Amino acid sequence: MPNVADLCDLLDRHFPPDTADSWDSVGLICGDPAATVSRVLFGLDPTIEVIHEAIEVQADLVVTHHPLFLTGVHGVSRDTLGGRVVHEAISHGIALFNAHTNADHANPGVSDALAAALGLVECAPIQLGDTPFTGAGRIGRLPYTQSLSEFAEHVALALPETAGGIRISGDPEKVIDMVAVCGGSGDFLLPLAANLADVYVTSDLKHHRVLDHPRDACALIDASHFATEWPWVLAVASLVASELGSGVSTLVSEVRTDPWTAHNASPGVLA
Ligand SMILES: [Zn+2]
Repeated sequence: MPNVADLCDLLDRHFPPDTADSWDSVGLICGDPAATVSRVLFGLDPTIEVIHEAIEVQADLVVTHHPLFLTGVHGVSRDTLGGRVVHEAISHGIALFNAHTNADHANPGVSDALAAALGLVECAPIQLGDTPFTGAGRIGRLPYTQSLSEFAEHVALALPETAGGIRISGDPEKVIDMVAVCGGSGDFLLPLAANLADVYVTSDLKHHRVLDHPRDACALIDASHFATEWPWVLAVASLVASELGSGVSTLVSEVRTDPWTAHNASPGVLA
């Protein structure tokens, strides 16, 4: 039976830690590298709810995309959010591991999983990097063209349901052939994506960036951060399952860590 270190090596091969951004935190968060692993739970965020789920399903390792601590901490006392996660995990013999921007830059990585979920073909990085393991976002082609309104419906059905749904900027009749995607916060790639694609699908687009974007250029679809990265969780779970076979069981978290809980579509009143 593999141990935690074996799982870390496997994940590091696919998502090399040295390709992570310099500000990022990736790799083993807590746990004993020598401990054996029979069950792995995959999720997007290492929240306390996900750790409780791991305890319930008797997972030995939790693999997430987002880190538990992005900045340095002095301590992990139990009365802090992160400290509680660490205490619960260690006291139940659960190791935590994450692959963040190294999974964004990998090929296949987070944006490949999003592109695949949307059925794109002939995909390439929007922004090329120095090695095959680096390159942000993906641009690909739809198997057949759709109007923007048809494509938006397709996106909404392909991604997990969230309280905020998806937001669209553009002419509903615009013909969509080339699609650019970036899982997670893709605001930084908008100028590049807009030059290449008919529509850009990402999350966390900023007000001024969208306002200043030419209306007749690339259309925009802004989904929840959680929804655009969720396909990677499914992808990495099946990757580990296919590499380790039946020796280790792999489970995908049922906890939805999208922080938004409701959406009020009331038109309101502009004063
Ligand atoms: Zn993210």
